[in-house]
Amino acid sequence: MVGVVAAAAVAVELLPGLEATGADRTAPTAGIEAADDPLGTPLAPPAGGGAHQFAQLQDDGVAPVAYDPCRPVHYVVRPDNAPYGADLLVSDAVARISAVTGLQFIDDGATDEAPSDTRDPFQPDRYGDRWAPVLITWDTVAEQPDFAADVAGQAGSLAVSVGDGSAVYVTGAVELDAAQFTEIVGRPGGQAVARAIVLHEFAHLVGLDHVDDPAQLMYPTTSAVLDFAAGDLTGLSRLGAGACVPAL
Ligand SMILES: [Zn+2]
Repeated sequence: MVGVVAAAAVAVELLPGLEATGADRTAPTAGIEAADDPLGTPLAPPAGGGAHQFAQLQDDGVAPVAYDPCRPVHYVVRPDNAPYGADLLVSDAVARISAVTGLQFIDDGATDEAPSDTRDPFQPDRYGDRWAPVLITWDTVAEQPDFAADVAGQAGSLAVSVGDGSAVYVTGAVELDAAQFTEIVGRPGGQAVARAIVLHEFAHLVGLDHVDDPAQLMYPTTSAVLDFAAGDLTGLSRLGAGACVPAL
């Protein structure tokens, strides 16, 4: 496959000055849905490990920023422009990421929210008193000009912290190129390539960055690698073992 690029993570930043009370609040009530213990267990990493990179590290420079494993990761899908088989592509990727990381995902159904580079992580009018769910969209080139080039998708999450505590991802976005996926799934063998790109993007969503090793699915361009390899699995296992942060 020539030139189909799955772009780097986006929207990774720390929010300043969260305010969880009063009329000007910018964050939901703390601890919504937070359990006392992780909801799932990451797969043990393969013996020997492999190349992986995290999108963002904690202040210690070692531990990755990750989703809170003590609460579910909600997601919504904007169905506009979706290619043939889109529902299965998304549900398969969610199931696979969940199996590897132990993170639990909840499908909140369809939305009409459009993708945005400046998405508000707290939208009480649309989603109620909670962090906005992960937004999955099939973008037009008008919506995401990066897709005019050979970029098939991009994804990332937003990290928040309280005081000196661990940064934790609270929401994110997966943007997929509607026109390019429609073309890919129409090719012989294209379903497997489409699945691989969506898996790659969901790995960005939960906190993996690209690696230079072409044997990994997190290599920046599509290749013969159509599933997670040892390095990807090692990184995803770490990302399923983040800190629980009920203060958010
Ligand atoms: Zn990528």
